[in-house]
Amino acid sequence: MNLEVVTIGTELLLGFTLDTNGAGIGRALAALGIRVVRRTSVADRPVEIRDAVESALARTGAVITTGGLGPTRDDITKRIVADLYGWPLDFDETLWQALVERYRRRGRIPAESNRSQAEVPRGATVLPNQCGSAPGLWLDGPRGLTVMLPGVPLEMEHLLTDEVVPRLAARGGGSVIRSRTVRVTGIPESTLAEALGEIERDIAPLTLAYLPGLDGVDLRLTAWDLEPAEADRRLAAAAAELRVRAGEVVYGQEDEDLAALVLDAARRAGVRIALAESCTGGLLGARLTAIPGSSDVFVGGAVTYADTAKTALAGVPPSLLAARGAVSEEVAAAMAEGILKRLDADLAVAITGIAGPGGGTDDKPVGTVCFALAGGGMTASSRSILIGTRSEIRYRAAQAALFLLLKRLRLSFPGPELGRARK
Ligand code: ATP
Repeated sequence: MNLEVVTIGTELLLGFTLDTNGAGIGRALAALGIRVVRRTSVADRPVEIRDAVESALARTGAVITTGGLGPTRDDITKRIVADLYGWPLDFDETLWQALVERYRRRGRIPAESNRSQAEVPRGATVLPNQCGSAPGLWLDGPRGLTVMLPGVPLEMEHLLTDEVVPRLAARGGGSVIRSRTVRVTGIPESTLAEALGEIERDIAPLTLAYLPGLDGVDLRLTAWDLEPAEADRRLAAAAAELRVRAGEVVYGQEDEDLAALVLDAARRAGVRIALAESCTGGLLGARLTAIPGSSDVFVGGAVTYADTAKTALAGVPPSLLAARGAVSEEVAAAMAEGILKRLDADLAVAITGIAGPGGGTDDKPVGTVCFALAGGGMTASSRSILIGTRSEIRYRAAQAALFLLLKRLRLSFPGPELGRARK
């Protein structure tokens, strides 16, 4: 089954509101094997709404709309669609009484303008809205299927899950659209593509999308129009093949967060982590402490931004700072060793770099970041050049430091492939 989505709201076009409804509908329907083949956003203007719904019905015979159902928008969508179907609006006394009751519970009385919310196109099915006043509407007629949902995301989601998905599933044909994601980091997209070789040919009929972002590259495999068991089997095999070909740059799957994976690995290994951060200014500590329960393995750290702080808090010798400069592998190593000792941790990571936009030199351009890991009687340092704006470089530096930690933990304490590790 193919379907189109029309999201209604001038704020969507002005860019004040992101179309999360459209994204949520896409995700929910993919799981049913229904393809959203087009998504249109239109302003709260009758001509545009009518045109969008009419042409979507002409193309696919099925459309879901969101927005324009509440009294503040004059129930504009409902009137237009009812008119398109040639179905008159009937006042629904039961719906009205439910609305009156809803207001009464809040010590209020509905306004005259609310009466329009109890009007239902003759022949439509009312989808009860547990979270708001405007119900959803399901119109199945000669023009096709139109499902109207409110614009408020929470209300939309409830109606979609409770009312729309089961109804659409009952009409569906048993195939699904399913995806799996393998997450990699610390490798440019082009190098990754080389490592994966002719993977697209080898995993067909599955498709592969490269989704680069600040965390790294997400490799999303998708199975289209397959039986659920067959889709899952092929996805598992393709994900395993991706892991083999991509190698050590793979850090997780689906929506796993690298900081959570680091904490899991440290916990299994019984390793307590400390850190010293310069250019990331606490970002790494924030990533780790964003995960509930991190205190059992994350000891703490220091933001050693100025040279004096590197000396006072991490014990970096002023002579080393003068000789090598604050952004150097030697200083990173001294920061890691110093904080490891000071906080009596098992493993320490340090970051020092130039996030820009100023401060770069020929020798150390903007984006130069030095990292060090100290623990278990050894210290290793490295240097990278990260790209992007100041905030992107800082985020990438924190991500790279987390990946260094994860690799070290996995190397020293290899364990089973990690399970779910969400934020
Ligand atoms: P009401 O008129 O009672 O507010 P409605 O069904 O008419 O409800 P809208 O007025 O269109 O819905 O939108 C209500 C809220 O939901 C607004 O804050 C709007 O920004 C938000 N919203 C609308 N459409 C979307 C969308 N596609 N994605 C995310 N948020 C949306």
